[in-house]
Amino acid sequence: MLEPRILMLGGDPFRQLARQLLPDRYVIIHLSELQEETHPSLALLDLAWLQEQDVSRILELLEGIPLLALLTDLTDFHLLNPFLSQLELRGVLVPPFVTPDNRTLVENVLLRQRPEPVHLQADLARANHALNQRLQELNTIYTVGKSIISTLDLEAVFSRVVSVSVNLTQAEEGFILLCEEGTLYLRAAKNMTAENVERFHEEVSDSVAWRVIRSGRPVMLHRKTKIATNYLASALLYVPLRGSDGRNAGVLAVINRTRDLAFTESQLFTLSTLADFASITLENARLFEARETEQSRLRSILQQATDVVLITDEQNQLLLWSQAAADTFNIPATAQGVSLQAALDHADLIDLFATDAECAHAEIALEGGQVFNAQLTTVPGVGQVVVMQDITHLKELDRLKSEFVSTVSHDLRTPLTTIQGYVELLSRVGPLTSVQEKFIDKALRSLTYITQLITDLLDIGRIEAGYNLEMHNMRLDLLLEEVGEALLPQAVAADITLSWETEPVLAVLGNQRRLRQVLENLLSNAIKYNRAGGWVRMQARREGSHIIFSVLDNGFGIALDEQSHIFERFYRVRTSENDAIQGTGLGLAIVKSVIEKHKGRIWVDSAPGKGSSFTFILPGASETPARNEEAPIFC
Ligand code: ADP
Repeated sequence: MLEPRILMLGGDPFRQLARQLLPDRYVIIHLSELQEETHPSLALLDLAWLQEQDVSRILELLEGIPLLALLTDLTDFHLLNPFLSQLELRGVLVPPFVTPDNRTLVENVLLRQRPEPVHLQADLARANHALNQRLQELNTIYTVGKSIISTLDLEAVFSRVVSVSVNLTQAEEGFILLCEEGTLYLRAAKNMTAENVERFHEEVSDSVAWRVIRSGRPVMLHRKTKIATNYLASALLYVPLRGSDGRNAGVLAVINRTRDLAFTESQLFTLSTLADFASITLENARLFEARETEQSRLRSILQQATDVVLITDEQNQLLLWSQAAADTFNIPATAQGVSLQAALDHADLIDLFATDAECAHAEIALEGGQVFNAQLTTVPGVGQVVVMQDITHLKELDRLKSEFVSTVSHDLRTPLTTIQGYVELLSRVGPLTSVQEKFIDKALRSLTYITQLITDLLDIGRIEAGYNLEMHNMRLDLLLEEVGEALLPQAVAADITLSWETEPVLAVLGNQRRLRQVLENLLSNAIKYNRAGGWVRMQARREGSHIIFSVLDNGFGIALDEQSHIFERFYRVRTSENDAIQGTGLGLAIVKSVIEKHKGRIWVDSAPGKGSSFTFILPGASETPARNEEAPIFC
């Protein structure tokens, strides 16, 4: 008679294993050799391998062929679920695979394909019963696993694990011991009498539990072999529970105390799986505790902090905040996990959190007049942190200072104009000696400087306060030509070639007077900080919805470390070439302030000795006027 053919579905390690499981005389065929006329008597399927295949195709192929599935990981069983009704599933083998029980199971399945001798029917019934029982066990383990892995309640999980362990192994008693600082503690028990618990305490240093914890290997003993304890048990099975640090944290145990029934290899597998669930929960609980400790440490630091600190998670929900933040924004203690919009009633602050940038900065004003300097930092993997300092008193000081500068400047201007007028008149009163002429010239130069300084100081104060900064649609191309014409004589006098080019019709929403000031400052700087024979170019163009304006020169240039400072008030670059040139150090501060008020940005590219290019970008306007209306001048 033809020997049964066995179809093997799995990777290389599985084939070796299956070979050990099967009696030698069977013919083994692989998936690639399967043809229509081949009728395998049995298929052995590795579910781990099946995962990587086209599951439905393979399972369709298996229709009508008795099947034994090898299950290494419980969750793989669910691959079979949708196909169970069409499969001839005869058994599910779990590790350890190569056991006498499993060999018998394979034999029995194969024998069942032949006419069954009467004496085998009882065996088959037994095997079927065992199989059903195993499937039920697996299902229970899976359900238990699913339900406990998501909880952090250690006591509940341990009780459930012990209870399921006792039920599935049909043991008389079960318990979990955890090892803490060298001592074993009983954490859960089932069916243990007070007397046994008491006895257990006496035997806490028992060598079996210690052996399992030290070696990390399970121990399965039966009276017939040897039990090295005085537990008065007839059979026991201990498996290790793993701790987070890789060491063993305890044991899960089942005991038959009075019944003389040994535990089996498959019960060992069941118990190990349940112990793994308990270990995972143990680790989850430890991680949760560590997180809680960290959070409460951080919370108490924040409680002490005088700054307003707000921390959100990546979903923009409040995570932590300081006491100062709670007081300032009326954040209730229950706001953790609440969305920022719901927890904070401040549009500017919510806008700051909405920034995508890694870092951002904003001034946040409260209704009561308080002003905060807010700094946002994005922390990858956490969320965003905003730290805010109260700068109300600094703002007030700044306002007083500006007011003072503005008043003094204003009051100085009238007498200075009078002095300048009289000094200029001196030459008309009568003939002057050359020394007197020299003195008058020096006085006039100083007066021009002071008048310019005062004008600039008044200007910067007004621009920053937004005073007289009405905006109209205007043409930057026309303004560029106008300023070019106006400064041409200054360029000619300095022996500088001045040229300009612009795309036609470049409209921006702007304040014409202030933008003229910007162009004049940039252009006069390019002429001033240049050598005779040099050149200066102005350019303007559109890029998308923006207008880009540049002034380029081949003058002195600016060193890299100076470039970030030149837009600060009163900053002047000190070089031998610059020293001879008069200036207040306020021109570029005015330029930057005006551009920012127009929602634009300005920057410089420069190399010492080679020249500079100052560029600003402004949003373009939708409407284009035919010409620029001159805005009224208020001083
Ligand atoms: P100032 O009144 O001194 O010109 P600004 O604020 O206009 O003040 O300029 C600040 C400094 O930047 C100047 O003192 C000068 O050293 C440098 N600077 C500005 N524009 C140029 C330029 N086009 N080329 C070289 N240096 C420049």
